[in-house]
Amino acid sequence: MTAKVYFGSIQHGRDAAFASLGAKLLKLLEHLDFSTIEKNDKVAIKMHLGFHDGYQTVPVFFVRRIVKAVKEVGGWPFVTDNPTSIYNAVDRGYTQETCGCPLIPVAGVKDGYTKSVKVDFKNVKEIDMGGVLHDADVLIDLTHSKGHANCGYGGAIKNIALGGYSGPSRWNKIHGVENTYPWWNDKKCSPEHAQKLVETCPYNALSYDKEKHKLNIMRFACHVGNCNECLEADKDVGCLDLRPEQFEAFQEFMAIAANKILETFDEKKRFFINVAIDITPHCDCLGIIQPAVVPHIGILASRDIVAVEQATLDMIAEKGLIESEIPSYFKHTNLNPKADLHPFQRLWGPYKNPYLVTKHAEKLKMGTRKYSIEEILPPAKTMKMKPPKQEFERAPSFF
Ligand code: SF4
Repeated sequence: MTAKVYFGSIQHGRDAAFASLGAKLLKLLEHLDFSTIEKNDKVAIKMHLGFHDGYQTVPVFFVRRIVKAVKEVGGWPFVTDNPTSIYNAVDRGYTQETCGCPLIPVAGVKDGYTKSVKVDFKNVKEIDMGGVLHDADVLIDLTHSKGHANCGYGGAIKNIALGGYSGPSRWNKIHGVENTYPWWNDKKCSPEHAQKLVETCPYNALSYDKEKHKLNIMRFACHVGNCNECLEADKDVGCLDLRPEQFEAFQEFMAIAANKILETFDEKKRFFINVAIDITPHCDCLGIIQPAVVPHIGILASRDIVAVEQATLDMIAEKGLIESEIPSYFKHTNLNPKADLHPFQRLWGPYKNPYLVTKHAEKLKMGTRKYSIEEILPPAKTMKMKPPKQEFERAPSFF
């Protein structure tokens, strides 16, 4: 079985609105077919609204169009995200007035309105799903596609897998799972050696608690595979053991957590939209303005979360990295475009393979990695189309 992924490219065959991405989004929504949304359905538009200065998320322009399309079929849309992002969303231009619908915290005003779901993965028994998302009838997973420090890439799966849960589940349990694997042998490591390892790390990924004799690693900051400096320094001692499966555990958990959310929605009431423009190296949580390290792609939409994610990753792989845009603090980027690695592995290190999440999601039967692309209003077609008569504003027309 292959799943259909609808694609609107940022490229346009005419310098006219009918050929550009705004018009393509409307056509994409027609193809996604919101007619399965029933009158009075409560429609959760799960987004990440960014933090602080991090405004490079899904432009409110697109949000408004999606909200309008939901209202046209009789649904009651609302945008949802974690409470902090909702409260300061106004700083990045998202309000009820601009989006066209309310903005509601995914787990209530104190992040405590949750539904516990059983996962039994590694050391985690249960995680707390956002009650507001759980209550909704329809899910529109509206995602900004970008890089991610823990797993290379953040897209539709991560948007609900992390963003659909309360803060403690997100940060302590789902992110924390990477450290359930033993990776440091305290018996082999003297305090002096531990301190030396900390000092070798160019990304400050390691820290040492002398009192507890405990070495800690922040995996999001670690570029292992590209940078191996601590491993080099540890060659004669052998107390470190950083392996790909430790990083993969996070991706497997993301697939599990996302699946739990999908299970609360009827299959006909799940829609996935990846906006692959402004593809930054870090995720939207970072709260800063970043250069785009991959050329703009466009918008991908599907009823199949795995297919839309796989197609987005493949398109990013095809585009590759814009070398001149890579921030200078990425000191170990693999600049060989021919390396058998996804661009986000070249950036974040080979252990952060972004395809692992779709592999695990497919295993959980969340969808298929086999897809066919239907391009909406491709430039080759629109350049042959007769554009409607274009009206230029010679004088103010709003009187
Ligand atoms: S592999 Fe490199 S980035 Fe990772 S902890 Fe070791 S020194 Fe730091």
